[in-house]
Amino acid sequence: MKPFSYVSPRTEKEAIGALSAEPEKVMPLAGGQDLLARLKDYVAQPDRIVNVKAALDATVSPMPGGGLKIGAAMKVADLAEHAEVAKLYPAIALAAIEVGTPQIRNQGTVGGNLNQRPRCWYFRNEEFVCFKKGGNQCFSPAGENQFHAIFGGGPSFIVHPSSLAVPSVAYGATFRLAGPKGERMVPAAEYFTMPTLQNVKTENVLAPNELLTHVILPAPGAVKSGHYEVRYKASHDWPIAFATVVVAMNGDTVRSARIVMGAVAPIPWRAQAAEAALVGKPLNEQTAAAAADAAVRDARPLSQNGYKVQVARTAVKRAILNAAGIKTV
Ligand SMILES: Cc1cc2nc3c(=O)[nH]c(=O)nc-3n(C[C@H](O)[C@H](O)[C@H](O)COP(=O)(O)OP(=O)(O)OC[C@H]3O[C@@H](n4cnc5c(N)ncnc54)[C@H](O)[C@@H]3O)c2cc1C
Repeated sequence: MKPFSYVSPRTEKEAIGALSAEPEKVMPLAGGQDLLARLKDYVAQPDRIVNVKAALDATVSPMPGGGLKIGAAMKVADLAEHAEVAKLYPAIALAAIEVGTPQIRNQGTVGGNLNQRPRCWYFRNEEFVCFKKGGNQCFSPAGENQFHAIFGGGPSFIVHPSSLAVPSVAYGATFRLAGPKGERMVPAAEYFTMPTLQNVKTENVLAPNELLTHVILPAPGAVKSGHYEVRYKASHDWPIAFATVVVAMNGDTVRSARIVMGAVAPIPWRAQAAEAALVGKPLNEQTAAAAADAAVRDARPLSQNGYKVQVARTAVKRAILNAAGIKTV
């Protein structure tokens, strides 16, 4: 890898001071599960690395009026085992438990997980200069695209790699970002950005000299939630497709629903047609199947990933049934 200088600040302010407004010059490092691999593959070549683990909050704290604030330096393993998180936001805990392996969860952090870069094999190979690396094409439509987007693709067809991003959007989380001009609060649903020719090199609104410091979850109220991930095998890998469902009930029928799919689009993908299909209905096998059909109706698979449509459909259906407390396979 290219040589770089390294600093390990002790406070958020020092960490922000050590970053740079110039993209690629200076990069934050948390658990290093993603960044070190990109450094070794010459996909990222910063001049300086800023270790943010000691500078950022690694705890969960209650918010006034309800809700929880999760520090970005918290390990995914600690999030997965946090009793209050599991009680109030079970889909967050379930997503955390399924990330990678115990070793990866023990090293990876919440901030690093949400900001990890795409797993696209063209992006990860230094020889393919794709849109994301300043090139003028995405290699996946005409290439190997088994794991790429079935919704919202183009000009880049990556899928967002973060498992924690999807329940964050579904629960209506807000991300606290800190930079040289102070802090700003960005709803998780607006943090992740669709690729356009202007911003295709990034996946979110974070500026190069900002840090994501906290995930703030609103008071959950009386909601039911479900989360379901589909992988090739029950081993360490990213899911092929997954979904988080959060529903508020009015007696036996659904008053409102938020259904978000993961690993199917460049951002956590809100399935609004599926949400509309559930409102006013009871939660059961038939309504879950109808909502799942609606969720994938507008899918636009590439040449090799048509199978993901059925996988995503199944993930949505089972996440709804999980929310209803109905056992799935
Ligand atoms: C075999 C394998 C399986 C995996 N399976 C899954 C899976 O199923 N689901 C899943 O979600 N992930 C999965 N991962 C990815 C892994 O969870 C992430 O790489 C890890 O969580 C990243 O966290 P980190 O702290 O190590 O990040 P780092 O590698 O340190 O950082 C990742 C990126 O985020 C930036 N960054 C770090 N912290 C901040 C911050 N606070 N603010 C702004 N930017 C920041 C860094 O600059 C870097 O670009 C898997 C990884 C492997 C190797």
